[in-house]
Amino acid sequence: MIKSEEPDKFLVLNELARRRGFFWPSFEIYGGAGGFVTYGPLGKKLKLNIESKLRDIFVNRLGIFEIESSIITPGKVFESSGHVNHFKEPMVECLNCNKRFRADHLINEKLGISLIDVEKMSLAEIEEVIKKNEIECPECNHNLKEPTQFLTMFKTLIGPYSGATGYGRPEAAQSIFVEFNRLYKMAREKLPFGVIQIGHALRNEISPRQGLIRLREFTIADLEFFFDPEVAECNMINEVENEILPILLAEKREKGLEDTINLTVREILDKKIVCSEWQLFFMVMAKKLLISIGVPIEKQRFIEKLPWEKAHYATQCFDQEVYVTRWGWIEVSGHAYRTDFDLNCHMQASGADFRVFKELEKPIVKKQLTVKPKMAIIGPEFKDKAAELVGTLLKIPAEEIVESLEKKGYYLVGDKKISSNHVEIIQQKNIIRGKRFIPHVVEPSFGCDRLFYVALEYALTIKDERNILSFPKTIAPIQIGVFPLINKDGLNKKSKKIAAFLRTEGLLVEFDEAGSIGRRYARADESGIPLCITVDYATLEDDTVTIRDRDLWDQVRVPLGNLPLLLSDYFKEKIKFKDFGDFIKSK
Ligand code: AMP
Repeated sequence: MIKSEEPDKFLVLNELARRRGFFWPSFEIYGGAGGFVTYGPLGKKLKLNIESKLRDIFVNRLGIFEIESSIITPGKVFESSGHVNHFKEPMVECLNCNKRFRADHLINEKLGISLIDVEKMSLAEIEEVIKKNEIECPECNHNLKEPTQFLTMFKTLIGPYSGATGYGRPEAAQSIFVEFNRLYKMAREKLPFGVIQIGHALRNEISPRQGLIRLREFTIADLEFFFDPEVAECNMINEVENEILPILLAEKREKGLEDTINLTVREILDKKIVCSEWQLFFMVMAKKLLISIGVPIEKQRFIEKLPWEKAHYATQCFDQEVYVTRWGWIEVSGHAYRTDFDLNCHMQASGADFRVFKELEKPIVKKQLTVKPKMAIIGPEFKDKAAELVGTLLKIPAEEIVESLEKKGYYLVGDKKISSNHVEIIQQKNIIRGKRFIPHVVEPSFGCDRLFYVALEYALTIKDERNILSFPKTIAPIQIGVFPLINKDGLNKKSKKIAAFLRTEGLLVEFDEAGSIGRRYARADESGIPLCITVDYATLEDDTVTIRDRDLWDQVRVPLGNLPLLLSDYFKEKIKFKDFGDFIKSK
């Protein structure tokens, strides 16, 4: 029976996460450091499984390339991309205790002004609001210094030379852009193609206080999808046209309204709500990813960012949000139309040519007229004025001179008459076979730690005052628990053999012999193990075991010989636990 009173899942999860080894704050023996976490044995497996889901959808099924580059990045890269100028947050410092806070968050917390409105404010406006409302330090109630912009990138030196500034990357996208030419070659010089990078990102958050939601070091998955803006259709959009997305439009948000509308992909396209088909396609994939890790669609929404909320590189941006009990709606992924902004910035700054060549279906033949001054005639005739005259003539469009010569028989440069004797008219045919352009980019960007947190929160159910992590079976960190009913009479040995056998079948198995069977089931439920196999006296006689389901707490007896196929089908989601009985009968 599920209790009607909703517990604070954040508190329950944090306690459970430490105890069971999902995650905990890092460096605790030295007093800790805000914004850093350590994933324990179960957490690391769960995180890898969630990242595998991402890979499965984007790399395996859509053929997106995956790369890995360094976290430390030369300063030039982030100067060129605009991050050094823009990757900043407003900060205030207490005059007394010198603690520092995000100015926008403080105003939001103290005055209830929405973050949407605070983010719009300039530093001067923020200062005015703080003074007018006498906002004080939340720690010691003293006055605050005037706000400043704090660069949230970690700055370092590369090597021993003071000039070689480096930054910890705050996103994984730039190292994809700077490698564009190589990657384009690997895509056989064809658009569209995409590249994903899943790796650590560093952001020196001013005051991270939201656990896994706001970290200073976290895992980001940035996917940059390059396409020709003149051929912007997504060839898979029809396959998803009936998918529904919950959308909260910018015009509603600006008015403080929260009315999300459920629209099909087709409706979104017809109403031109999302400006790139590819961006919309990736939003659908993001919805599917979240469903696959256990977040139902009713708890997801896509909000359109307001002009002042968007990152400096984005033309249109939607955030995918998930509802969590502690903080309400939180962003789990961002979907930005970055146009050619980044490639262009790096082209300008580095001199690399990121334009791609597009062959035209039919070459265009262009006639070109050139007017070539005859110096042998102009020189003697106009003497010291000749050079100036020729200079002027060369700047005038050839068509204009030719037209005047044909109509009037001369062309006037100041008071000098130029006739067809003074110039040679050359007609040329130019064949244009193609053009060069910079590809456009749409980017879905996921925060893997937030995916991890929402997967945990949506897995948590509390039944008879016991915690159960009902993960979807495909992301469960451990797939099977194998337990001897009691620890004697050869049951232990038999269980170990079964566990070893299942491991050779490729399953993630935990053998547990400690404590009563009830306590072991409870431990398994808290670790999110979908199935537990118990070895009892009957096993020794007839080679059957019981399998217990984590969520139903039901059991079924299964011959050992059926286990490999049964479990393989179960984890491939071909068969449900309730159908195990029929499966065995059919064998
Ligand atoms: P952004 O580039 O700011 O849109 O971030 C991309 C994704 O990274 C977001 O959708 C979040 O899921 C995640 N993210 C951003 N900042 C943090 C942070 N400080 N800690 C954990 N995840 C973050």
